[in-house]
Amino acid sequence: MSHRCPRCGRPMELTLRTLHFPPHVIRRVPVLSCVECEEHRLEPVTKVMLRGLLDQMVKRAEPETVDFGAWPDFARLIRMLVEGASPRAPGGEQGHDVDRLLSLLDVAEEAGDTAWVEDLTRKILDAIVS
Ligand SMILES: [Zn+2]
Repeated sequence: MSHRCPRCGRPMELTLRTLHFPPHVIRRVPVLSCVECEEHRLEPVTKVMLRGLLDQMVKRAEPETVDFGAWPDFARLIRMLVEGASPRAPGGEQGHDVDRLLSLLDVAEEAGDTAWVEDLTRKILDAIVS
């Protein structure tokens, strides 16, 4: 898959960045960065995984630094992002399910339906981290 910058049309590269979610910090988050301008993009699948992680972190008041790269499925996520492939269970139809859930998630976020977003996030996480 070739990622193109939505702003200037130049190629985008996968980089690992530190993201701040005050008071917490998450290191080594895979982000697509434009080689030309300052445009950055988080892929939907990365957003879902971050949200799962943040859901647990917000319950803890102490500032924390989490290394996303230490997460067991990190390598799988990177491979998915580089290849542009959907997460797929061996021999299963799961990849299609995740694609469908991710597009529903866009709709739910646009509609501002928090309960729906939470429900979809949980389903996507279940499908990916298994
Ligand atoms: Zn650009």
